[in-house]
Amino acid sequence: MDDVQVIREPAEMREQSRRWRSEGHRIGFVPTMGYLHEGHLSLVRLAAARCDRVVVSIFVNPTQFGEGEDLDAYPRDEAGDLAKCREAGAHMAWIPDTPAMYTPGYQTRVEVAELSKPLCGASRPVHFSGVATVVTKLFNVVEPDVAVFGQKDYQQLQVVRRLVQDLDFAVEVLSGPTVREPDGVAMSSRNAYMTSFERSQATCLVQGLRAAWARFDAGERDVDALVAAARATIDRAPDTRVDYVEVRHPETLEPLTTIEDRGVLAMAVFLGKARLIDNTVLGGAQRP
Ligand code: AMP
Repeated sequence: MDDVQVIREPAEMREQSRRWRSEGHRIGFVPTMGYLHEGHLSLVRLAAARCDRVVVSIFVNPTQFGEGEDLDAYPRDEAGDLAKCREAGAHMAWIPDTPAMYTPGYQTRVEVAELSKPLCGASRPVHFSGVATVVTKLFNVVEPDVAVFGQKDYQQLQVVRRLVQDLDFAVEVLSGPTVREPDGVAMSSRNAYMTSFERSQATCLVQGLRAAWARFDAGERDVDALVAAARATIDRAPDTRVDYVEVRHPETLEPLTTIEDRGVLAMAVFLGKARLIDNTVLGGAQRP
């Protein structure tokens, strides 16, 4: 398989993308922050199945990190990432540096107002405007036909879908299911932060999702009862600190009291320094 090309300058990336388009190629795009794992690669494969050219961006976006978050500690492995990109069928890795993305005097932010408020937005108030801003910038440079995001970051996916609709991006947004480790823990670059003891406790999130599914399958539709089932499982693991466990409307993310059809059960849990997130759509087609 051909080596994956590396581009760093946004202007060069745009040029390459336009060249491909003029040659009639359909361009798929997978934005990432690097330190790639099977979850990322599943999205690359999905893009490769639908498009002739696949661009993976690797950019640890500072505007989506709040004060005191893990921006400086975020794990990096460019050489490893490039090898994985190639294996998964990507054609281009776009790895811009921060000054190229945020030029001096930069002062514009994109805000997806309501979807950014609940769940992760409550404890990470600047996070989703950082995401919406960088996704806008990345889309404007790559001009992809298709962009692929993971359901692992469920709220982010809804924010991006809304952004694309509201700002008239000519991009088809696709999503891929959460890829898990054999013990059920959702793959995440941030799993590297955990000690081996914390890692052994991390299964409590997926077990919480499964406990709620068990109640759902038994006919339970009351949101408080479903949340309680998930929380009881998480609270049994030592050294966990729950940020939130909630059930909300799967598209609007508005609160629900009972599930009519489907509801997204989403959670964020601290295990030591790592803040882990996971989710499932109760009543949906996929189970964790
Ligand atoms: P990140 O590098 O964490 O910003 O993630 C880049 C993309 O990969 C996002 O669309 C994530 O939702 C997606 N992603 C991260 N982890 C997983 C996973 N375990 N399964 C599927 N997609 C994932």
